[in-house]
Amino acid sequence: MSEAKLIDGKLKAQELTDKIKQSTSDLKSNGIVPGLAVVIIGEDPASQVYVRNKKRTAEACGFYSVQHDLPENVDQSEVLDLINKLNNDDQIHGILVQLPLPKHLDEQEITQTIAPQKDVDGFHYVNIGQLSAGEVEQAFVPCTPAGCMLMIEDHVGKDLSGMHAVVIGRSNIVGKPMANLLLKANATVTICHSRTSDLESITKTADIVVAAVGRAEMVKGEHIKDGAVVIDVGINRVEVEEHGETKSKLTGDVDFNSASMIASAITPVPGGVGPMTIAMLMFNTLRAAKFSDKK
Ligand code: NAD
Repeated sequence: MSEAKLIDGKLKAQELTDKIKQSTSDLKSNGIVPGLAVVIIGEDPASQVYVRNKKRTAEACGFYSVQHDLPENVDQSEVLDLINKLNNDDQIHGILVQLPLPKHLDEQEITQTIAPQKDVDGFHYVNIGQLSAGEVEQAFVPCTPAGCMLMIEDHVGKDLSGMHAVVIGRSNIVGKPMANLLLKANATVTICHSRTSDLESITKTADIVVAAVGRAEMVKGEHIKDGAVVIDVGINRVEVEEHGETKSKLTGDVDFNSASMIASAITPVPGGVGPMTIAMLMFNTLRAAKFSDKK
């Protein structure tokens, strides 16, 4: 038994961001500056951190970056008006509405109002449909699974023929698009979720495990196959005792210590999927800007 290779999402994201910077400066010489608009509603502290990181990375890539801060009690119609304005703004190529939204807002209506060609989060039904149809080249693919896929490719290649991939979680944002990407790469895919029985016996047969649940350290080393590639999407805040003090710490859905003794490669939390998600948002925005050039 040897320790797994660490899949360094931070490093990979930096490499990707450097390439995006280069492509952005090439595009600028054709008179196009990729533009990203981020809409944040309310004061959720985690969302504020994510949005700040996205804005900072967009600026580092050389993008035109705008942020719209709307109050917690904003009306649905005001949000839709802003999105329509951004849909018609030629300086903006990508629009992102940070989720989750306050309870009184209709998330589906809001995400479906974003023009599909500016939907850099990949939540519009047009993009979901294209991804489901295997038309990955046309679709905007949701950033988190797209980033996971690049990390998987790095370790096992682009063709996953003969491999069994198990995705834990069936959300529209992570689990389902992840499964579609793995299927497109020829893996045999199983999606597990909260109603799956005997989850461990399924994960134990997987060559690739993607955990996207939101339950701290639920996947243990004993639940995975020898040599599996493990991608941990989960972000959970847990309290730990350190030198007699209670501290808050981020942890994934995978028990890193035990899983890294069995897996061949594994992503850490933090420093794995998170940075790749932001890099893929920049990649999607750059693509949207390039598409707009071809119109
Ligand atoms: P979600 O709550 O929408 O979906 C969770 C899924 O887990 C559901 O499909 C549910 O069926 C499944 N599930 C719940 N309990 C289970 C159990 N006991 N066994 C098996 N499956 C179970 O969450 P999401 O938006 O898909 O996010 C999942 C996790 O990934 C969260 O921790 C979230 O914070 C994290 N996340 C991270 C990034 C990133 O950039 N790193 C991005 C998106 C989400």
